Amino acid sequence: MEPPLPSVLPIVQAGAPVLRAPAAEVPPELIGTPEFRELTERMIATMRAAPGVGLAAPQIGVPLRLFVLEDREELMATLSAGERRERGREPFDVQIVVNPVLRLVGEARATYFEGCLSVEGYAALVERGLEVEVAGLDDTGAPLFIRAQGWKARILQHEHDHLNGTLYVDRMLTRSFATVEQAKALFAGKPIAEVRRILGV
Ligand code: ZN
Repeated sequence: MEPPLPSVLPIVQAGAPVLRAPAAEVPPELIGTPEFRELTERMIATMRAAPGVGLAAPQIGVPLRLFVLEDREELMATLSAGERRERGREPFDVQIVVNPVLRLVGEARATYFEGCLSVEGYAALVERGLEVEVAGLDDTGAPLFIRAQGWKARILQHEHDHLNGTLYVDRMLTRSFATVEQAKALFAGKPIAEVRRILGV
């Protein structure tokens, strides 16, 4: 008998071609199959173990247009009320998003530190749309529509980028690139306007 597959998978790191190629649409006939359920369960388990707030299929080496996202109270426990407000960060339940189409809503933009499980150990400021709409399918193949602001909108843009072979480093303010330790030590608790002044960006 073969041993059961581990539910938590290694996360592919920057440099791997799978992170730089556009992913393929998930074939409709795959959605809802046991194979598909196993894939999404393993993606969620891998995201939670990291821990992270989103994971796209290419990050586990699967070149399909599919991502999962979730934000939990415990992941924002070290942020002050002001920092949560500034980021627009609120807990939300896990979602599976298949074959998404993303559209920015309005002109408002927000700039914050962002990291990626595939660029382990680093963070940088990235400007993103403040509000987005995402249309796609859920894990049963039913139509899914998400309208989100703040941190969830950022996660959706970041994960959607993964499906097009784009990493946050392609969009970051390059002079803000820092190790997570440095970013925490130097900028934790500071308003982003002050961080930008310090960095000159
Ligand atoms: Zn990422």
